Amino acid sequence: MSTPRPVDLPVDLIVCHGIVVTMDPQRRVLADGAIAIRDGRIVAVDDAATVLAAYSASEHIDASGQVVHPGLINGHTHGPMELFRGLADDELLDDWLQHTIFPAEALNVDEAFVRTGMRLALAEMIRGGISTFADMYYFEAAVADETARAGMRAVLGQVVIDFPAPDNATQGEAMACVDRFVGTWQGHRLITPAIAPHAPYTVCDAHLQQVQALAERRSCPVVMHVAETRQERDECLRLHGCSPVQHLQGIGLLSERLIAAHMVWTDEDDLERVRQHGVGLVHNPQSNMKLASGIAPVPAMLSLDLPVGLGTDSSASNNALSLWDEMNSAAKLHKVIHGDPKVVSAREAFEMATIRGAASLHLENEIGSLEVGKRADIAIVAMDPINQTPLASLYSALVYDTKANDVRDLIVEGRPILRHRQLLTLDETQIGAEGLRARQQVVQRLGLQP
Ligand SMILES: [Zn+2]
Repeated sequence: MSTPRPVDLPVDLIVCHGIVVTMDPQRRVLADGAIAIRDGRIVAVDDAATVLAAYSASEHIDASGQVVHPGLINGHTHGPMELFRGLADDELLDDWLQHTIFPAEALNVDEAFVRTGMRLALAEMIRGGISTFADMYYFEAAVADETARAGMRAVLGQVVIDFPAPDNATQGEAMACVDRFVGTWQGHRLITPAIAPHAPYTVCDAHLQQVQALAERRSCPVVMHVAETRQERDECLRLHGCSPVQHLQGIGLLSERLIAAHMVWTDEDDLERVRQHGVGLVHNPQSNMKLASGIAPVPAMLSLDLPVGLGTDSSASNNALSLWDEMNSAAKLHKVIHGDPKVVSAREAFEMATIRGAASLHLENEIGSLEVGKRADIAIVAMDPINQTPLASLYSALVYDTKANDVRDLIVEGRPILRHRQLLTLDETQIGAEGLRARQQVVQRLGLQP
């Protein structure tokens, strides 16, 4: 005999009457659905009539005619680099890094810069329906503070790199800094602190092994760029006689802690190795296209059922933090190079931005779908703007038609942080003005024409 349903059970918030795209294992879509939320978690997802009969809430969000879906997951970015948006477009990664970005960072990046840039990034991501992101940068404790204040969820990697960085002059200082950072933030309901070795070619093997030892001791993720360019792959072959992935395996870096961004220059053997070790992967189609880095073998990753998500990378290499743009690009890029419109379907692209993206960050038990027990991270997207009219089939509309501006509401951990396109936790006017002032300083210090 089944237990009778509780009637009028109090909850904090009910989102009702939307088209609910759950991304649960059955990929259920509820034509007139509702979600009940208590203490930041989902307690019911069902038809609106069923949920409204069983639960009562002090606050309701009516999503009639709109799509309700899991908050999007930006698997790879460098938020504070918003202030470098468009600073050196149309350059190869190595030139871009060595001649523009590293010098610009040396001249400009301090804690105030990081906070100002991060607030811009948070505002842009919230407006675009992103509820969780993975970041790697300097002064990551300041990033964590700004992110928690804005009410967003994130995996935040404090960068370690083998040259003097804006926040730590030596590798020893950087490792001590990460240790403090992880110790301070671990256990926070929104923030997962992590260690972020920049890349295998900017951090030596001995230091990478120290990174792995710290990650094991602290039980924290490792966020890293892996196999981004042909130059990186060729140099690794020359120095070590194997691919970057094989090399990382050899020194003990492949594990369920690793979140590997890019994975462009990888082959079937590399993918089998990351599969065996449970590595999370993040595809950054727009950044890879803009820097002409190459095209990651995403159809092969999907056919192996690997946990691969989508990332924007930074605004200096993209130039926007929109997962809608990334989904659109991911779905099209692989079709054209394979000569096959069936590879990376709209639904697969949407999965990469939600449930598969959650798995890439090793957070699939907490986020990425609208299921009972998961965190209440929910986006509501208008389906009546002119760019959506007439409405296509659901996943096509979401991936090919929807723009970041179409996001109406965003809820993270049960708390609305965007309502009717208004930011509730950030002052957009002030953030914009501070961002402009900081950019003027960047331009002056680099001796560029304004
Ligand atoms: Zn990156």
